[in-house]
Amino acid sequence: MSKKWVYLSRVAKKDLTDTLGHEPTMDEMKIILGGKGAGLAEMTSVGLPVPPAFTITTEACVEYMRNGDFPDGLWEQVLEALKDIEQQTRKRLGDPENPLLVSVRSGARQSMPGMMDTVLNLGLNDETRAALAQLTGNEWFSYDAYRRFITMFSDIVMNYSREHFEEKLSELKKKEGVQADPEISLEGLKELVAEYKAMYKAHFGEDFPTDPFKQLELAIKAVFDSWNGARAVAYREHEGIPHDWGTAVNVQTMVFGNMGNDSATGVAFSRDPATGAHEYLYGEFLINAQGEDVVAGIRTPQRISLQGSREWAASQGISEEERASQYPSLEEAMPELYQQFVEITRKLETHYRDMQDMEFTIERGKLWMLQTRTGKRTAAAAVRIAADLADEGLITKEEAIMRVEPEYVDLLLRPSFDPQAGKKQIAKGLNASPGAAAGIAVFDAARAEELASAGRDVILVRPETNPDDVPGMLASKGVLTQKGGATSHAAVVARGNNIPCVAGCEEISVDVTRAQFTAGDVVVKEGDVISIDGFTGAVYLGSVPMIEAEYEKQIHLIKLLSWADEIRTLGVRTNADYPKDARRAVAFGAEGIGLCRTEHMFFDEKARDAVVRMIMAETDEERQAALDEMLPFQEQDFEGIFEAMDGKPVIMRLIDPPMHEFLPPREELLEEVITLRLQAPDSPELAEKEKMLEVVNALWETNPMMGLRGCRAGIMYKGLTEMQTRAYFQAACRCAKRGITVIPEVMIPLVGHVNELKLEREKLEAVAKQVMEEEGVNVEYMFGTMIEVPRAALTAGEIAQYAQFFSFGTNDLTQMTFGYSRDDAEGKFLLKYVEGFDTGEVDVNGEPIKFKILDANPFQSLDQVGVGRLVQTCVEEGRAANPDIEIGICGEHGGDPDSIDFFHRVGLDYVSCSPYRVPVARLAAAQATIRNR
Ligand code: PEP
Ligand code: MG
Repeated sequence: MSKKWVYLSRVAKKDLTDTLGHEPTMDEMKIILGGKGAGLAEMTSVGLPVPPAFTITTEACVEYMRNGDFPDGLWEQVLEALKDIEQQTRKRLGDPENPLLVSVRSGARQSMPGMMDTVLNLGLNDETRAALAQLTGNEWFSYDAYRRFITMFSDIVMNYSREHFEEKLSELKKKEGVQADPEISLEGLKELVAEYKAMYKAHFGEDFPTDPFKQLELAIKAVFDSWNGARAVAYREHEGIPHDWGTAVNVQTMVFGNMGNDSATGVAFSRDPATGAHEYLYGEFLINAQGEDVVAGIRTPQRISLQGSREWAASQGISEEERASQYPSLEEAMPELYQQFVEITRKLETHYRDMQDMEFTIERGKLWMLQTRTGKRTAAAAVRIAADLADEGLITKEEAIMRVEPEYVDLLLRPSFDPQAGKKQIAKGLNASPGAAAGIAVFDAARAEELASAGRDVILVRPETNPDDVPGMLASKGVLTQKGGATSHAAVVARGNNIPCVAGCEEISVDVTRAQFTAGDVVVKEGDVISIDGFTGAVYLGSVPMIEAEYEKQIHLIKLLSWADEIRTLGVRTNADYPKDARRAVAFGAEGIGLCRTEHMFFDEKARDAVVRMIMAETDEERQAALDEMLPFQEQDFEGIFEAMDGKPVIMRLIDPPMHEFLPPREELLEEVITLRLQAPDSPELAEKEKMLEVVNALWETNPMMGLRGCRAGIMYKGLTEMQTRAYFQAACRCAKRGITVIPEVMIPLVGHVNELKLEREKLEAVAKQVMEEEGVNVEYMFGTMIEVPRAALTAGEIAQYAQFFSFGTNDLTQMTFGYSRDDAEGKFLLKYVEGFDTGEVDVNGEPIKFKILDANPFQSLDQVGVGRLVQTCVEEGRAANPDIEIGICGEHGGDPDSIDFFHRVGLDYVSCSPYRVPVARLAAAQATIRNR
């Protein structure tokens, strides 16, 4: 007997139990039957009304791709499954009296929306068309179904673009003076079908295939082939989906939503995919229509629930009267079916324990569920749904935490448009995907990609989008479409990828050929800047200023993060240089400061002057005078930071960068000196500049990153470490006297040898002691070092004897381990290393195969193999020498979820990251705990 390639949905679960020897999990079902096939099997097993169907396995697709033909036994099994469906529906494929029509759809393991092709109404020919007319008493419908089928079959199966057919349809509508498809006359449709067939024959030199079995065979092969279609491949590349999974094929009895006014079709979400709210059922439907009509944006879809319908009408400025008569909700139009649908939704959510995205059709008063899958959602909805489902007891808190991507948290903290800012609204559409975006209007997806890769912020503007636009959408900051509803292609793809989107903006008129759109009397051309607000649907001319997101109002996020805090074992601190950053970070949940880059406090102009004087001092007195001037700037900021961090540790890092960074650039200075020598040779200004140039020349280094910086500067510049320590401890003591709980920690940067640490520690302890005596209070403090020079990591055992804590400076550690300059590498070669080099070979789709030197940019995501090994060695040897040592990380990697997972595994005590990454890190740290249990 040949392998089992085909599963009947109604018994698929049972059959898989026989094949696998145990009841299949959802994942196992998805691997074999694809997402849609698994959904069909699962829905049937839950007892939902699903039109009879069967699924051809993904493995059959893989075999087909390998051999270029159906594997042995596949076709026979298809015929057998078909017989079963025929028995259940009492219809037969090709029967001139009672024909069965089927849909043939792809369905990969993971949902790839709009990426794969579907053929509907398969089984139609002249005879079955006539039978359909007879059975339904609706000749118009039979011709409508027929013309749709010829279009889809020609396009998808035979590669004869649907545009040719759409063009004829538009011409017909124009000729008949009608707007919508249902208004076309029967005679018109008949002529159209005849014309389509003639077009087909002229194009291929043979008649449109009339044998439904041949149609089925070709359609299945076409779905298999579509797995390697350009847009499917591009989507997989973007999503990181393996190319060798293959797609399943689902063959399902057609049910029709266009059989009259007791029929309808629609899509619905069990919770709002934009916000996660679940006050009512979200979604859209159309009476007397077929599925594709809802998403195509040709007719205005109606809302499922009454409340949703009213809210939609209000947002569109449609009166209640007009709404109720023109666009009634399903709840009003078909109240019993609506109730049945609500119950099914509940059943599905309880069963799948997640928000569902459902397709349904009502055929002559009977509700059929066509599909259900876990719905794509925005960042805000992901957070709210996870928190709500846990509150409702459907999932655990841990599951809720694992369901939210850490990057989503970052998105929620992104800015929105400033409501106070003056702005010129030119149009309003649907708020299809939240977020604010500004950029130049571009009217073509490929052009959007091109301009975006040249560094421009782009808003892609299209009449509506289709799968070919996806790469351009992904490259854009925002998407604006003229047509289409909340479930249109543009809306779904934008939401799935967290791109702000305003869809169905009927107030604009997009002219792609002239690369412009008009909104009233405003004309926006390619390159003009517009702003779109995916939260409200507003479109503005020009760039609107943005304001920060209000974290305090994000109650679901706050709840989820509080659960994360209960679970995580890794601490989360922040890198903050000023009191205002410290306050923000505390509000975001930071548990301390892991790095205060004290040199940033000298960015103030006056403070900077003092630093310059310190560097240029010729005598000890001059230097000390400059240091004395620098001190108050530091002390003031330290006090502010201690106040903000009351009761939480504060790591103050001694000055780090090369000193010349405080002086004017050498070339600039040289130019000024030359000019002054010519124009004002005796001026005091020249004398001053010449002196400064001399100092700059003396400080000049070929390789400043490896030069006089970090603790080396503290050691070489007399009084510098002492001044910083004094400022810090004065601030700590004075705050302590005011009742603030201070936990000071002092950190030495760029240590490579234990003796550097010994020397600095000695100086510093003396000052700390002296200040405490002067101030008359004692504060407990810790002394530690950064680990950012490979030698420090390799000699951690020695260093740990003089340090109470380590903090990995993974920016420098990465720079020095790879030998890549953190300032120049990205611009010179590093990005190319990550993007890869052409091998001269191409894959099955003709795409070049690239050889990548690096999988990821090591300055963004820690190189766990190399730099990580140093980290691990250092942790082990440091702890062996000093079991109480506290170990953290404060490089950029402290806010990167993959790196955080690594830091959790090597047993660090905390990560420290920029204030905005703190919430991301809290979630990622909890996920690391759960994942690595
Ligand atoms: C580091 O090197 O990782 C670090 C945190 O220090 P800086 O970025 O200031 O050099
Ligand atoms: Mg560093």
